[in-house]
Amino acid sequence: PSPLPLEIIGVSKRYHGSADRYAVRDLSFHVGPGRVLGLLGPNGAGKTTTMRMLMGLIRPDEGEIRIFGQPVAAGAPVLSRVGAFVEGPGFLPHLTGRANLDLYWRATGRPAQDAHVAEALEIAGLGEALDRAVRTYSQGMRQRLAIAQAMLGLPDLLILDEPTNGLDPPQIREMRTVVARYAATGRTVIVSSHLLSEVEQSCTHLVVMDKGQLIAAGPVDEIVGSGDTLFVGVTRI
Ligand code: ATP
Repeated sequence: PSPLPLEIIGVSKRYHGSADRYAVRDLSFHVGPGRVLGLLGPNGAGKTTTMRMLMGLIRPDEGEIRIFGQPVAAGAPVLSRVGAFVEGPGFLPHLTGRANLDLYWRATGRPAQDAHVAEALEIAGLGEALDRAVRTYSQGMRQRLAIAQAMLGLPDLLILDEPTNGLDPPQIREMRTVVARYAATGRTVIVSSHLLSEVEQSCTHLVVMDKGQLIAAGPVDEIVGSGDTLFVGVTRI
């Protein structure tokens, strides 16, 4: 059988200077192909720490993370199949959105004319804005440009850490549409949020975290049907 897009096995992380407090503690879950997994939890639950470990930006103290069967530390072979969004990257404000993405794409050493790039831009739905200077963009548009960047080349696994942070409700809805359109290509997505309303509509599966630990995991319907007590501290809007 082909390896799973993502496996997290017994992962723990403590930050320096935080005594014995675990940011993430003994976390295990996996994500099957074509699934859209929502990583849900209140502030401080350990979502960002988890996402940064998936992206290889920080190392777990214990446990293992495999992406398409490869340990994350091995990096390079997996990277071309993974797209990641962390808090909005810096763009060059005087260049257009398209020029910024082109620059990024070429910096990753891939050919400029790629049908997958065109499709990713279509999915991101930035339209004509792509040809305007980034300095004219709203916060929501910058964020979507960052998502577009993560989607370039249509990675088999797309990792989005709180893509709706700081967005207003219409922008949140747009973001949800973008995630749904990406998922419709059959690729795997993992998206973190503290908003149940956001993940319950766009995800097939949920992992709920609190205080660094997994408190529930499964198909969305099962988790949502299991009662509100799970969602203490998680905003329902
Ligand atoms: P948020 O939605 O607020 O980003 P989160 O679920 O993403 O929350 P994390 O950011 O992963 O949670 O934080 C988990 C815990 O680790 C929190 O208690 C936080 O204070 C702590 N923490 C996060 N980053 C650091 C750091 N760089 N140094 C020390 N402690 C940290």
